[in-house]
Amino acid sequence: MFTLFKLPYAYNALEPHIDARTLEIHHTKHTQTYVDKLNAALEKYPQFQRLSVKELITDLERIPSEIRTAVRNNGGGVANHELFFHMLSPNGGGSPVGKLAAAIDATFGGFEKFQQQFTAAATGHFASGWVWLSLDNAGKLLIETTPGHDSPLMFDRKPILVCDLWEHAYYLKHQWRRGDSVADWFRVLDWQHAERNFCNP
Ligand code: MN
Repeated sequence: MFTLFKLPYAYNALEPHIDARTLEIHHTKHTQTYVDKLNAALEKYPQFQRLSVKELITDLERIPSEIRTAVRNNGGGVANHELFFHMLSPNGGGSPVGKLAAAIDATFGGFEKFQQQFTAAATGHFASGWVWLSLDNAGKLLIETTPGHDSPLMFDRKPILVCDLWEHAYYLKHQWRRGDSVADWFRVLDWQHAERNFCNP
């Protein structure tokens, strides 16, 4: 069965950009709920309990239809939050590094233009969801948003960066100001981690 992953930093470590109370609730309540609901969905299907959450959501076609939506929503919820939280760091912020920096320059015309397009995609996305920098099959970077807890993994693309657009990710500090929450997310984003996602198959 799945258990809630640990965070590699304290709840107050990302202050003032992400406030401790929102982060704690986000991890111990919202993310825990997705873990619990994923376990409930898989209760009668022990053969799927052995897979990683990433494996579960990458190939949803093999999931029995009666639990497929629950696995999509809650498995996606667990996988997306695990990636999201692990890409944040008290030492984050700054600019892209390494091969990813070069690819962002080549694709978007520089980091500032990338940041503008990414933020515009985030603020333009209707309702809850996620905004991503993904890599497609042809090795091309793209900015995309997904509804609910869908992941680029479900569409044969590889996530490089992800920012949570659900209000629960920023409600106590930023309230309705999604754009401000994305600006603060960039201030704690670990670009070394993004570089590893980009370079590792
Ligand atoms: Mn969330």
